[in-house]
This record gives sequence, C-alpha cells and structure tokens, in this order.
Amino acid sequence: MRRKLAAGNWKMNGLKADLREVAALLTDRPASGCEVLLCPPATLVAAMAMTAAGRIAVGGQDCHAAQSGAHTGDISAQMLKDAGASHVILGHSERRADHGETDAVVRAKTEAALAAGLVAVICLGETETQRDAGETLAVIGAQLEGSLPEGLTGATCVIAYEPVWAIGTGRIPSLDQIAEVHDFLRDRLVARFGAEGATMRLLYGGSVKPSNASEIFATSNVDGALVGGASLKAADFGAIVAAL
Ligand code: PEP
Repeated sequence: MRRKLAAGNWKMNGLKADLREVAALLTDRPASGCEVLLCPPATLVAAMAMTAAGRIAVGGQDCHAAQSGAHTGDISAQMLKDAGASHVILGHSERRADHGETDAVVRAKTEAALAAGLVAVICLGETETQRDAGETLAVIGAQLEGSLPEGLTGATCVIAYEPVWAIGTGRIPSLDQIAEVHDFLRDRLVARFGAEGATMRLLYGGSVKPSNASEIFATSNVDGALVGGASLKAADFGAIVAAL
C-alpha cells in the first residue's frame, strides 16, 4: 500500500514571514492520513524544519552532485540534510530549462541525494510540442531511464509526472492522459526495479488546485501531487491535503 503524498514546491518564493503559512497548516491540518512535504527555497529550509517540528517533512528544491567543493552558489545534499531536510526535488523542468540539467545530471544529483540520506523527488515531463507530436511516452520513458540511478526503492525516491505545459498555466491534461502516463510509469518502474517499482509513489504535478485535486487523486496510479502555486497558502494547500 503506497501512502499518499502531498508535496509543495515554493520555488523562488517565501521569506521568513511566510512561515506563518506553515504554522497555519499545522494548526488547521485536515485529518488526512497522507504525508505532507514542503520544499521552500534553501534559505528557509532550516527555519521551516524548526517550525514544522517533524509534523510535516521539509525538502530542498535542488542539490549539487558533489558533496562539497568549489561550486559557488550551490548547495549539497548533505547541507540540506544538515539543515533539517528529508527530501529534495530533482530534475524539475525549470531546472532542466533554466540550468540545462540533463538526465545524466539529474541522475548524478539523485545519487548524491541518496548518499546523504535524502528522499529524491524526481521530476519528469513532456513539453507541449512533444505532446502535440505524439512523443509523450517516448520522452517520459527516456527521462525515466536516464534520470534514475540503479538501486532506487520506494523508500528512497518519489517520481513526479509534471507536463511542462501544465506548470503554472492553469491547464491540466485530461484524466485519461494522466492515467496513461502514470500507468506507463508504473509498468516501467516495475520492469526495471521489480517489486520495489510497485512501491514507488507517483505524483502528478501541474496546476493542481483545491478544485481539481479530488478527481486527479482518484486517477489510476496517482499517489499524490507536487504542487507549486497552490502550496504557498495554507488554505489552498490544506484543501489539497484534505482531498488526498
Ligand atoms: C511545480 O512547479 O512543480 C508545479 C506543479 O507548479 P504549479 O502547481 O504552480 O503548476
């Protein structure tokens, strides 16, 4: 049985004052059995972990593949762990697009995350052009092969399907399209990782809101969501948590 996961990605948003949203989420948290994860910018990881006090998990949004060294401005997996993170998002499409991250880079970062004891939340997704060209499953399959290292388990990774064209746009794929990709991912994970592949959680991400969360969560092989904009406010994110 896979435990549902509601994960929030604050992206480059959030100052110390915004931790009140975490406090509000903890106070008003709906009685849901799902796991809750928030990934603030690196500057807030330690403070959010203090506020969360273990009641929700805290994660980073990226890490370097190296443990330490001459990488100005970067942050290592070990540093995130030291700051109180338990997870790290890797291979988000904004990192792939803005920082030229390839599948090989995502794979190396995932290995670093695992070595530091973090759970890797690995993102995959097609662009609109690729979907229109009928390439969605081929693109996702190639990203899955290239971005995931050997030896992953359901305890060490979470996979997030995030169609690039659905992120921050208010548009989502049809439920059939989400199911098609998630079923495909499940088959591929089981083919590659055996029984462990059946235990890996598959999140959908891209314009998830309180108004569409329930129907998305009822879709085949959807084990939760990776939420951007709607994770910034406790009222919205709490409603999504309640829908799981
Ligand atoms: C994301 O950034 O991972 C995301 C899914 O964003 P949004 O929910 O805002 O579309």
